[in-house]
Amino acid sequence: MDIDRELKKRQLKVTPQRQAILKVLSQSDAFINAQNLYTKVLEVLPGTNFSTVYRNLDTLVSKDLLCRISRENGGDLYKIRSEEGHHHHVICKGCGATIVIEFCPMDTIREKLEDVGFVPTDHRFEIYGYCKKCKDKSMGNI
Ligand SMILES: [Zn+2]
Ligand SMILES: [Zn+2]
Ligand SMILES: [Zn+2]
Repeated sequence: MDIDRELKKRQLKVTPQRQAILKVLSQSDAFINAQNLYTKVLEVLPGTNFSTVYRNLDTLVSKDLLCRISRENGGDLYKIRSEEGHHHHVICKGCGATIVIEFCPMDTIREKLEDVGFVPTDHRFEIYGYCKKCKDKSMGNI
């Protein structure tokens, strides 16, 4: 990806930290947690502090440059956003495989929120469980 162009396209300032984060993430197609990401960012840009990276991750997610999923035991995972349009991910507790879900629960809730005058600014949607492969495996063990 052309990192500078993607940042500018979203009216984001091109900073060394953002370049480093996106460079690290663009090297893999899998979700990576913030701590591992931070370690790799340090290799590209020594001296970066964790809170700066964390803050930038938030910004990049809000600008649709990154996908984020939360795990039930805490610790968010990030990757470069490759899907078009609004979507969510579910993650398998067994193998860590992720599946893209086109459905958004906000579509059904939005009207109810409007009724009570609540304006949602952002949301997360999390489902935990096992993928088909892991489910079959555990069934076989019984
Ligand atoms: Zn995604
Ligand atoms: Zn699995
Ligand atoms: Zn949604």
